[in-house]
Parts: sequence; structure tokens; C-alpha cells
Amino acid sequence: MGRETPAGDLRLANLTKRFGIFTAVDDLSLTIPQGSFFALLGASGCGKTTTLRMIAGLEEPTSGQVLLGDRDIARLRPYKRPVNTVFQSYALFPHLDIAENVAFGLRRRGIRKVDDQVERMLALVQLDGYGRRRPAQLSGGQQQRVALARALINHPQVLLLDEPLGALDLKLRRQMQIELKRIQTEVGITFVHVTHDQEEAMTMADTVAVMNAGRIEQLGAPADLYEYPATAFVANFLGQSNLLAGDAAGPTGDDVPVTAHGTRYSVPADRARVDRGPVHLGVRPEKLHLVGSADQIPAGHQHVAGVVTDASYVGVSTQYLLRTAWGSEVSVFSANSGATERLPVGAEALAYWDPRHAFLLPREPGEA
Ligand code: ATP
Repeated sequence: MGRETPAGDLRLANLTKRFGIFTAVDDLSLTIPQGSFFALLGASGCGKTTTLRMIAGLEEPTSGQVLLGDRDIARLRPYKRPVNTVFQSYALFPHLDIAENVAFGLRRRGIRKVDDQVERMLALVQLDGYGRRRPAQLSGGQQQRVALARALINHPQVLLLDEPLGALDLKLRRQMQIELKRIQTEVGITFVHVTHDQEEAMTMADTVAVMNAGRIEQLGAPADLYEYPATAFVANFLGQSNLLAGDAAGPTGDDVPVTAHGTRYSVPADRARVDRGPVHLGVRPEKLHLVGSADQIPAGHQHVAGVVTDASYVGVSTQYLLRTAWGSEVSVFSANSGATERLPVGAEALAYWDPRHAFLLPREPGEA
């Protein structure tokens, strides 16, 4: 489906929204490249929806700009913007059939010949042949596809998606995530997706922005955010992390030595967000390997010792909890590939890792 004029990148420049004395969105600046799939990810109340509503024109910014290409659209009325939104509640018209629901935007603009476009849109969302049904005769996932077709038929330059899969059950959500990604690739327009579900954001988006208290904590490709988070907040929000509180003494060659709970560790300098002072040494649970004795640890690896307090079999992996001598809990995901030994609750064990899989983050003094 072609677009008459290229949209350009979507840029938010120093965008701020205050409700009374409360700042919901705090001096936000970011660029969303044209044609990309962008996710705003964060916990409830962090300001994602308010940001989306300012892009849509449903909320007026207190200050700052919303630029599409070179054009500031921040003060245009919603319907004057080349932007459409798909909400969690599909808001289909129950008395209209599916074809008329999809055609709605065209009809409103006075276009009478709609059949070909409607058909193309229904094919795009894989609902060919459903045009004569009523919304109530469709499943939740199908209704969400109709909502998508209804938005896309207007040829927006930017499509905003506000928790669009929130009402679907887990299996359907996963299917629709793949489906949304396919549709975005096919239509090639900018998608901005708001979600609190980290797996959903990572599955679909080219770029994820993690929001916290009205600000962006970190922005990047999903794998980069996960493998090398910038803050303890991101490390904990995106998957699980084990964070050891320690102190770094400055780099030595290519490594940064860290002392934590009386033991010396080291992290490669290119995995250190900070190389001096209070730090968190982080390792993801799946990067840890659990063994019963020190002679099973390969050379060049590092470890913590503890007692197994829980072993939960979850099919693809067994998830262990290890309690250390200083009372922390270390989480270890051990793939059930048949190659690893199982350790029972109560066993003394060592969790080891390759230092190249660790990362160093800044820690507030006194923060555990
Ligand atoms: P959720 O996932 O729950 O929708 P969110 O990250 O989208 O959360 P927002 O809806 O953007 O968060 O809200 C951000 C903050 O702004 C919240 O603390 C909310 O209570 C507040 N807020 C939003 N709209 C208003 C309003 N109209 N008046 C006052 N406060 C508001």
C-alpha cells in the first residue's frame, strides 16, 4: 500500500506533560526512524500512554515538540495528523458489518468506492471472506485484526498501538505479535507500540525505549538492552538479573576488578558502564551454570557459592535458587538439554559464569 508523501522520522523534542504539579512525561527527546517498529516499554504509570496521546493529539503537551519530518504537529487537531491509533478496546461498531467497519475512515472522507481497498485490507490482516459478518461473530483476536485494518486503510504515516493485545489470552497474544510484525514489515509505516510486557516489546520492536517515571532509562535494540543494560532498573525490568553489590577500583588493562562480599571478580572494560566506586556486578540467570564442586568450573570463569533452596522444573529449563553465605538469592536457569546434572534442594553448589557475560552498572552508595 503506497504512501503519497514520505513521512520522515518521528521526533519528540523536550516533550513534557504536567498534570497540576505532577510531571507524567519529563523532557522526553527521542527519534523514531521512519518505517521502524518502536516500542515504549514500562510499568503502569510511567507515562507511556500520555506520550502516545501527545503523538496522537489527544493530549496537549505542556511544552516541547512532536515533529514528523520537519513539521511540528504537536498542536494540530488529532484528525489533521497523519496518525492513527489502535486501542486495547477495539471499539468496533457493533451494528456495522466488518467491511463497513473497515471502510469507516474512507466513508467519513466521502469516498464511495471502497470495496477494493477493504478487500485488500482484509487480506492483509488475513480475514478474507469475513466482510459480511458482525463484530460479535468474531473472536477477540479477529476483532483486533479488524481494528488494525480499520486504522491502516487511512494510510497513516504513523500507527500508534496502545496495549492492543492486552485483552487477548497468552497464546493468541503470541500469535498476534508475530502477525503484527509481519504486517508492519509489509506496510512499511512507522509503528509505535506501548506495552508493559517486556517479552512483547522485545519480540516485535526494532527499537525499545524503557521508560521510568516519565523519562527514558535506555533505548536500543532488544538484544542490546537485554545483554548489556545501562541501569539496574533496566536489568531488572527486562528479564531477571542477579546483581552483586561491589566496589570497583578503576580499570586494570582491559578489565575492571571488582570486590564483592570479600571476593575479587573482574569484568571486561567494554562491559562496564562504570569502572570506579559502588557498582552492581550483573549476570543473567541463563548465563550461570550450576555445579557441585569447584573442580567442575572451567579455567577463567568466576563463581559464587551457596545452597540450593529451590529447583523448579519448567520444561525447557530448571530454575534454581541459590542462597549465598551473605543471604542473597541467586537465580540460575539451567537448560534441560540432558547434558547438565540436576542438583537437589539442600545441596551445596557453585554457580559459575564466563566474565564476558557479566556487566557492571552504577550503584547508589548504600544500595544493596
Ligand atoms: P498504564 O500502563 O497504566 O496505562 P502509563 O505508563 O501509560 O500506565 P500514563 O497513563 O501515561 O501511564 O500515566 C502517567 C501518570 O500520569 C500516571 O501517574 C497517571 O496517574 C497520571 N495521569 C495520566 N493522565 C492524567 C490526567 N488526566 N490527570 C492527572 N493525572 C494523570
